[in-house]
Amino acid sequence: KLSNRLQQIHDQIPEGSRIADIGSDHALLPVAAVRSGKAASAVAGEVNPGPYEAARKQVSDAGLQEQITVRRGDGLEVISTGEVDVITIAGMGGALIASILDRGLSKLEEVKMLILQPNVGEDILRRWLLDHHWVVVAEQLLEEDGKIYEIITAMPQASSPIANEEVYLARPLEGGVVLTKELLLRMGPYLVDRPTDVFFAKWESEIVKLKGVVQSISKSDQDSSREKAAEVERLIVNLKEVL
Ligand code: SAM
Repeated sequence: KLSNRLQQIHDQIPEGSRIADIGSDHALLPVAAVRSGKAASAVAGEVNPGPYEAARKQVSDAGLQEQITVRRGDGLEVISTGEVDVITIAGMGGALIASILDRGLSKLEEVKMLILQPNVGEDILRRWLLDHHWVVVAEQLLEEDGKIYEIITAMPQASSPIANEEVYLARPLEGGVVLTKELLLRMGPYLVDRPTDVFFAKWESEIVKLKGVVQSISKSDQDSSREKAAEVERLIVNLKEVL
């Protein structure tokens, strides 16, 4: 049985897609997706030998070698342009996911959907998507085993049902407070519109972490650190305003 996190990623995949799961580890997602019919075929990509072997074993134990190919390589180098409709990348930092996408830009040309689950650095990833004309069309936030996860689904601008201008349109709140594009990139344009208990828990704990950052860097007597501390303090104020 899939974890709730992987299940929710799975559920985002359109029926009958050709998928690539990059950083697949034990290939749990491709195996489940092929079994459920979400994936007609799958590539499981892994850069590290241990997880690569684990993926191969999982696929052969499931008897799905015909439908799932396990390939060893860095990021999108394991697929060719036009080979898949959907790419899933889960369980890594947002900066790493963005760098995998960035280094494989040409492989994204015919991809119809990205389903991404950054562990941290969601803002870096949303910024990358925006800069590269991918539109976030759905977001999920969930808590499992004491950890909070975000799932971001994006489509190419040309086929997206909604435009980036609309997704990141600043939202005026009560009391003259404005939810700016910067804050939307950080907090998630869909997640802010229907905040749940998990959303508030996430941002309360983020604020605690950010306060720790301010504490540690404001002790420095370097101008650049003091500027950074002031910037993070402003961010804390902005976050508190919108929560
Ligand atoms: N995607 C699975 C999940 O969400 O449960 C596994 C997540 S695991 C924490 C991250 C995996 O990504 C590791 O198995 C690691 O070897 C792999 N990985 C890290 N960088 C990679 C890269 N550049 N290309 C392919 N795989 C990578």
